[in-house]
Amino acid sequence: MVALGWQTPDGYPVCRPALNYYLLAFHPDQYRADPQSRFINERAHGNIQKDGRYSVVPRIWGGLTTPAQLRAIADVAEKFNVPEVKITGGQRIDLLGIKKQQLPAVWQDLGAAGFVSGHAYGKAMRPVKTCVGNTWCRFGTQNSTDLGVKLEQLTWGSWMPHKFKLAVSGCPRNYAEATIKDFGVVCVDAGL
Ligand code: SF4
Repeated sequence: MVALGWQTPDGYPVCRPALNYYLLAFHPDQYRADPQSRFINERAHGNIQKDGRYSVVPRIWGGLTTPAQLRAIADVAEKFNVPEVKITGGQRIDLLGIKKQQLPAVWQDLGAAGFVSGHAYGKAMRPVKTCVGNTWCRFGTQNSTDLGVKLEQLTWGSWMPHKFKLAVSGCPRNYAEATIKDFGVVCVDAGL
């Protein structure tokens, strides 16, 4: 803070999360993350919207889900009168219009159904978008869905200085839009 010439004890709101990130990255053994230097979304586990309410996105690994998971999300949406439910571009389900005071109870129910946060708000590794790959698609060269799930499980919880998106497509037709992500895989016949 001295080196950066901060004029107030709280510092500058843009620099503070960055400083917190880099101190933790460079000194993981000595430095303890400062929760107050995280953005409100990360502290509340929801994505603040323009009207002050939040959206909640449970993690759906690799975009692969089950009827039981969909039922559990529907139960939460009904129980808390969620005004809007939307499929996201990252193949997740977004529960929009949740009041801040509802967030702990919403997450309690989602957690009981086995969900963790999809980090739709975080400066973090985001979910991995996938296509169906060679399990179902006649053009598929490899199992892109399985690779996407593995990648997501491998990178889950990593903290990044900015949002970091990933995708895996099962062939060069590239339905998962892997080539416009921060990290993308396009499977080909010759791949291992
Ligand atoms: S990207 Fe290729 S493998 Fe994936 S769904 Fe499209 S055509 Fe099939």
